Amino acid sequence: MRLLRQLEFAFETTAALTSILSVRERRTTKSPGEGHLIGSSHDVDLESKAREILYELDANKLAFGIRVEWNSRLKTSAGRADYRHKLISLNPLLFAHPAEIDRTLRHELAHILAQFRAGRRRILPHGAEWRKACRDLGIADEKRCHNLPFPAKRYVARFMYRCPNCRQEFPRVHRARRAVACLACCRADNGGEFDARFRLVLVSCSGGL
Ligand SMILES: [Zn+2]
Ligand SMILES: [Zn+2]
Repeated sequence: MRLLRQLEFAFETTAALTSILSVRERRTTKSPGEGHLIGSSHDVDLESKAREILYELDANKLAFGIRVEWNSRLKTSAGRADYRHKLISLNPLLFAHPAEIDRTLRHELAHILAQFRAGRRRILPHGAEWRKACRDLGIADEKRCHNLPFPAKRYVARFMYRCPNCRQEFPRVHRARRAVACLACCRADNGGEFDARFRLVLVSCSGGL
């Protein structure tokens, strides 16, 4: 059970990790001429599937805004749900496991649907609301721990950073070497450019500094 918990933790935290790339890092990865494919791509088919599912569940407002992408920055996690941006990200490694794609999509959709129904109320990631959403989405037996079809790397986050604006926490394996800001807030308030107001603050670390 200990291992499963760790996997779950890895899943939940990878989501945060991918959204705190510093602007400099993002520019580097996007520079033309770089050999390997890094980044994300929109999936129109999966998106309309997600939309139809949500319409059937009378979540029309959510259906309107939902987006689905493939994101190569996901490492150990099969998928990720970003409620604020109504965005589901799927790991391209799932291409090799087609049967897992639909399930992962529904698992992530359940996270977004549960939060949508809860409104401003805070809910646990895999609590009663999420389980109810899973039932509605036809995956009643879904476990909170994602059964990754690919080997998960051991991942231990020692450093916890927090955005001073939205309070989102960002666990990291390594100490940040350069100024890192909350991408969501930089996008929302500064056109996606680095903004020192949203610079992440180290709030805790385990194992000594
Ligand atoms: Zn989950
Ligand atoms: Zn923020």
